[in-house]
Amino acid sequence: MGQTPPVVGWSIPRNAEADTLRKANVLPPESNVDLMSEIEVPEDHPRYESLLTRHRIEEGVDKGITSRQGLIAEGRGEAFDYLLGERTIESAERAERAAAAQLLLADHPVVSVNGNVAALVAAETVDLAEAVAAEIEVNLFNRTAERMDAIAAHLQEHGADAVKGLTADGRIPNLSHERAKVDADGIGAADVVVVPLEDGDRAEALGAMGKTEIVIDLNPLSRSAQTAAIPIVDNIIRAVPNMTAHARELESADRETLEGIVDEFDAEAALAAAEAAIREGELQ
Ligand code: ATP
Repeated sequence: MGQTPPVVGWSIPRNAEADTLRKANVLPPESNVDLMSEIEVPEDHPRYESLLTRHRIEEGVDKGITSRQGLIAEGRGEAFDYLLGERTIESAERAERAAAAQLLLADHPVVSVNGNVAALVAAETVDLAEAVAAEIEVNLFNRTAERMDAIAAHLQEHGADAVKGLTADGRIPNLSHERAKVDADGIGAADVVVVPLEDGDRAEALGAMGKTEIVIDLNPLSRSAQTAAIPIVDNIIRAVPNMTAHARELESADRETLEGIVDEFDAEAALAAAEAAIREGELQ
């Protein structure tokens, strides 16, 4: 093996090129140079958000946080986001405000986190939970002890002080064993649950338990979005910080105001508006 020259001053625009340079011993094999990462693209680049999202998911898989199926889910979401114009449409903005109000009204709100959520918005989820005094619970479709631990640790690295989901002493009725597991004093006892990128079966089962569900999903036709009391058809990368901003703004609002915001929100109309935006939107 030859000497590896220092990498100072290098500008490598793509991961693939960084890999090639690692293989050619130009970059040390252990180097983390991944300059698409957090990321060597200016924020005003038209594909910035999408590139950042892909990068975070890729990194999530490398860290054992995101499953390979999570990659597929990401691709699906990205296609819908592209058709929406990669922006928060008006109906989603209203849904995010209603969700913030609903969370502030809740007695026991919980934000459910899976591998994609942890990879994409760990710090933002911690902020949201703080703003609405919610608990955070790790909840996985493909549950393994390793991934549960990795996600809990990742959330803690991003500021979460307590993370639920590891006890798994509660069950969601009518679901098969692994997918049914929750913490009895977490999602099991929650009145309002935020379930971003949730699988349709579990969203339906949680709804049947009487939980008020806030679903974030870019597909307005998914069963999860259709089941939700408040469906948010927006990229989670935009939706979560937006919900937090609304929650901070509504922090000192009285119950009546918050209830008014929730009552005014029309889930069916929001889903129809999102579907229309996707079907009829003009691509630039
Ligand atoms: P359902 O059973 O609810 O119909 P599904 O189980 O088929 O849905 P998955 O294939 O598990 O859904 O995909 C997860 C969902 O998450 C997809 O609907 C996708 O659009 C959505 N999604 C993926 N990435 C994001 C993201 N970054 N922000 C919001 N939604 C996303």
